[in-house]
Amino acid sequence: MNNFDYLLKDLTKLKGVGKKTAEIYKKKNINNIFDLLWRLPQSFVDRSEKSKINELQIGKIHTLNVEVKKYSFPRIRNLPNRVVCEDNTGKIDCVFFNSYEGYIKKILPLNENVTISGKISYFNNKYQITNPTYVSKDSSLIEKIHTKYRLTGGLTQKIYNKLIDQILKNLPIFVEWHDNRIMKNFNYISWNDSIRKLHNPKNIGDYNSYYYKRLAFDEILASFLISSEIRKKIKKIKKKSKFFTNKSYTETLSKLNFKLTKDQIKSLMQINEDFKSKKKMFRLLQGDVGSGKTIVALISALNVIESGYQVAFMAPTEILANQHYNLAKNLFSNKINIEILTSKTDYNDKKRIINKINSKVPSIFFGTHALFQKKIIFNNLGYIIIDEQHKFGVKQRKFLSDKGGANCDVLLMSATPIPRTLIMSVYGDMDISIIKEKPKHRKEIITYSKPETKINEIIKFVKKEINKGYQIFWVCPLIDESKKIDHESAVNKYKYLEKIFPKDVSLLHGKVDKFKKESILKNFLDKKFKILVSTTVIEVGIDFPNANTIIIENANKFGLSQLHQLRGRVGRGSNVSTCILIFKNNLSLNAKKRINILKKTNDGFKIAEEDMKLRGFGDLLGFKQSGLKKFKLADPIQNEDLFTLAEKEIKRIEKEEKNLDKYKFLLKLYDQADIINDII
Ligand code: ADP
Ligand code: MG
Repeated sequence: MNNFDYLLKDLTKLKGVGKKTAEIYKKKNINNIFDLLWRLPQSFVDRSEKSKINELQIGKIHTLNVEVKKYSFPRIRNLPNRVVCEDNTGKIDCVFFNSYEGYIKKILPLNENVTISGKISYFNNKYQITNPTYVSKDSSLIEKIHTKYRLTGGLTQKIYNKLIDQILKNLPIFVEWHDNRIMKNFNYISWNDSIRKLHNPKNIGDYNSYYYKRLAFDEILASFLISSEIRKKIKKIKKKSKFFTNKSYTETLSKLNFKLTKDQIKSLMQINEDFKSKKKMFRLLQGDVGSGKTIVALISALNVIESGYQVAFMAPTEILANQHYNLAKNLFSNKINIEILTSKTDYNDKKRIINKINSKVPSIFFGTHALFQKKIIFNNLGYIIIDEQHKFGVKQRKFLSDKGGANCDVLLMSATPIPRTLIMSVYGDMDISIIKEKPKHRKEIITYSKPETKINEIIKFVKKEINKGYQIFWVCPLIDESKKIDHESAVNKYKYLEKIFPKDVSLLHGKVDKFKKESILKNFLDKKFKILVSTTVIEVGIDFPNANTIIIENANKFGLSQLHQLRGRVGRGSNVSTCILIFKNNLSLNAKKRINILKKTNDGFKIAEEDMKLRGFGDLLGFKQSGLKKFKLADPIQNEDLFTLAEKEIKRIEKEEKNLDKYKFLLKLYDQADIINDII
C-alpha cells in the first residue's frame, strides 16, 4: 500500500509548495500532507446563488454574471482603477487599489462574460465590488460553497484551497478498516468520501451527517486505540508478584479512628490484587476532593514494604509532601522507615537519604519532583504513588511507569472529576478505581451566593468567623492569564482587607515565586495570619483544617468544577464550613442555573457532568493541561453516542483482533503526538 505514504509525505511534495512555505508550516506543526488535510475549514462562504444587479443588497456577498464594458485607469496616486461591468439589469464597478493594469485586463477581459463574487458596497450612486478576488470566466469555479481556512505564512485562501484540491485529487484509496457493524452507523460512507465532503460541503453546518460522524468516530477510535495499546503494552511487562501477609496492614486499619468507606476498601482490594498479580499495575485512583485517597495510598504501601520493596510517594508541592509525610509518621509510628526528600532538604540529609535508597532497605520516600532527579537511582522500587498530577499527559505517565522498572507498580491519584464520556479519552491507558462515596459524618459545606453590593454583610460574617478562631480563603479570579493583569484584583482586595484586618491578611498570586509561596502557605497553616487573599494558585490537596470559609469573587468567571475544587479547600475539619460565591449583579439565566447546581450538590462527578453540558468540555477544569487529546471533530457533548460506540468497539477489538494491522493507517494518521511510534 505504497500510496498511503502520500499523506505522510513532506509538504514540498505538493505542487506550488516550496521549501520556504514548508518551513513556515512546520513552525505551525504542520509537517506532512495529512496535517494540512486535517486542518478543518473554519468557515464557509456560500457563493453558489447568482444574483442580478438590480437585486443586490449592500453589505452582502453576491455572485454575478456580468460583461466587462469599460476600463478606467486614472494614473493618479490614490485614485483606484475601475472596471465597469453590466448585466441586463444594471451596472456595477469593480474597483482595484494597488493592482496593475495588466493583471486587471487579464482577469476582466474587455467585452467578455465573467463571473464575479464579492461584498457589495455603494459609492457615488453606484454599486461596486472592491478588490474582487473571486473572478473567473469559468463560472463553476465561483458558483459554489467556498471553504475558508486559518491561514499562515502569507498564503491566500485561493492558494490554500488549491492545495486542498490537489491533495483530494491524489487521495490514496484505503481498504476499509471498520466492520460492517460499525459502518452501518454511518451509512457505509468511506473515509475518502467523508474527507472530500468535509472540504467540499454541500450544506453549511453538516454536523449531523454521516461523513462528519464517521470522521469523528475515526478520530475517537484512534485515540482510544492508542491508549489501549499503551495499556496492553504495560500489562505485558512481567513483574515479580508481591507476597505479603497483610499483617501491618490490618494492624493499621484497626488503629484508624474512623471506618474506611466501602469505596476505599474496594479500591484497596483492587490495588492488592494488582500487587499479587504478575502484571505491572498502572492504576488511577480517582475520587472527589476529600474522598480520602491519601489514606488508601498509604495503607496500600504497607504491603509493598512488607514484600521487601521501597516506595516513592510524589506530591506536587512541598507542603503537600510534608503533610503526607507527617500523616505517615503518625499512622505507622516508628515501625517503618519513612523519609522525605524535596528541593529544600539539606546536603547531609540528602546524602543520608540517597544512601538509604541505595541500600535497598524497604522504606517510604515522600517528596516532590526532586525524588525523580536523574542522580537518584532507585534499584529496589516496588511502588510509585503520584498525587494530584492532573497535568500529566499520556506520555509523561508512560515515562514514570518506565522509570520505576519492571517490578514497580504505579498508582496515580486525581481529584479532577471527569464526565463519564471522557474517562476513556483521558485515562484509557490506565485501570481505574473510583471513590464515589464521601466519608460519613463529614459536615457539608454550606454554599451561599451574594451580590457584590452586600460586601458589608460578608465582612461582618468574616469578622465573626475570625473571632471564633477560624481562617478564611479569599479567592479573586484570574482576569486574563495572557495579559499579566491576573493579580490586580487580588492586590486591590488585599489592600482593602488589610485596612479592615490589619496584619491579619496575606497575598498570594501567580507572580509570587515558588519558595515564597510555600512559606506563605506554611504560615497560613501555622495560623500566623487569618485571611489568605489569592488568585487560584492554591494547589489542591493540602489540608487546612482550621480554614472554614472560602469566599470566591466574580464566581461566574470560574467553571463549576473549578468552583467545586476551590470549595473543597475548606470542609476538611470537623466544623461546619461556608463557601460564599460573590457575583456582579444581573446574572444571566445560565449563570443562575450553574450556581444552583453548586448549591444543590457536593458531588464532583455530577458537577463535572452538568458543567460540561452547560459550558462545553473545552472549559472544564484541568482539561487544557490534562491528557485529553484535543479532538478536531468529535465533540463529547454532541457525539456522546459515538464515544459510547467507540468504547464498545475497543472492548471488542481488545478481545477479538490479534493485531492492529487493519487499523494501521488510522493510527498513523490520527496519532499527532507520535505516541504509536514510541510504543508499538
Ligand atoms: P483527598 O481524596 O482529597 O486526597 P484526603 O485523603 O486528604 O482526601 O482526606 C481528607 C480527610 O478525610 C483527611 O483528613 C482524612 O484523614 C479524612 N478521611 C479519610 N478517609 C476517611 C474516612 N473513611 N472517614 C473519615 N475521615 C476520613
Ligand atoms: Mg489529596
